Amino acid sequence: MKITRIFAHRVELPLREGSYHWAGGKSVSVFDSTVVGVETDSGLIGYGEVCPLGPFYLPAYAEGVRAGLRELAPHLLGLSPLDLAMLNERMDAALKGHPYVKSGIDMACWDLLGKASGLPVCTLLGGRFGEAVILYRAISQRDPDAMAANVREYQQAGYTRFQLKVGGDPTTDIARIRSVAQLMRPGDRLVADANTGWTQHEAQCVVRAVADVDVYIEQPCLEYEQCLAVRRNTSHPFVLDEVIDSLSMLRRATNDLAMDVVNLKISKLGGLTKTRIARDWCVAMGIAMTLEDSWGGDITTAAIAHLAHSTPERYRFTSTDFNSYVTVSNATGAPQREDGCLRAGELPGLGITPREEVLGDRVVDVFQR
Ligand code: MG
Repeated sequence: MKITRIFAHRVELPLREGSYHWAGGKSVSVFDSTVVGVETDSGLIGYGEVCPLGPFYLPAYAEGVRAGLRELAPHLLGLSPLDLAMLNERMDAALKGHPYVKSGIDMACWDLLGKASGLPVCTLLGGRFGEAVILYRAISQRDPDAMAANVREYQQAGYTRFQLKVGGDPTTDIARIRSVAQLMRPGDRLVADANTGWTQHEAQCVVRAVADVDVYIEQPCLEYEQCLAVRRNTSHPFVLDEVIDSLSMLRRATNDLAMDVVNLKISKLGGLTKTRIARDWCVAMGIAMTLEDSWGGDITTAAIAHLAHSTPERYRFTSTDFNSYVTVSNATGAPQREDGCLRAGELPGLGITPREEVLGDRVVDVFQR
């Protein structure tokens, strides 16, 4: 099987809640997602999706996905999409860095590997652990009472894990954490995600002020060393996210005992192939994971479900159902949340079919002439 064409569509995904806010006054109301197709001489087409969390969350932006695809795709025509390690070597040789550009192609090739072998991606990634994957709900940054009301609403919808967007004024953040903490039921878990928003002294003040609260602290500061300093001064379970953007950072953080949980995002690491390596490393090292992506629609949600469901339950901290946050569905067959959980599909590949009527025209189209 050979790659004969790589194309992409741009799909807008408006947020059901209207907008999503996090540290530093950052917000998004309509996500700009790129659906990537990899066509082969066998007639099979694989699909992937890349959706940055706006242009200011990670070093990634939506138009950059498309520009990167135009740069990278000509190097991949004629290669086998099923030889995923070789394909990734070629992508890294042709374009240094830019992991998010490679993620959609890699995801589409896993979809092809599943379709060609008749197996769901979940099986190809290691098997199906347990009945379902437990999800968290991200709680957009607002005033403390509004965030508490939001958590109550999502508890009723079945969620048991909540990720509060903090990283603002420390006094307000302490109130946010306390107002939501009192709503937690046995078995619920609360994470305060500062998304790099606190300076080191602010983070120290917050973790000390909530020392009596059962809450995980996620990515308090911008720099790895600052996070490490906070980590070493708190007994709260500690999560790293933004700074773990490569396998070498994951190794470094593991060696430093810098986290109890790590947030692995598929596009942050460059696709399912590299995220699987990171996932397997974390399992071997005993580090639990949030398995997800920066954002996305149905195709990303399907890929997340396959990745998460193929991860041993003991190390599966949480995962995400991004398709329930947005008002547009870009594919049929994607898993849907049930009782705060998600299950990977049983069909070959990612198990999704893009909705042609939603995708519109191709904005990238590279093929052998
Ligand atoms: Mg995070």
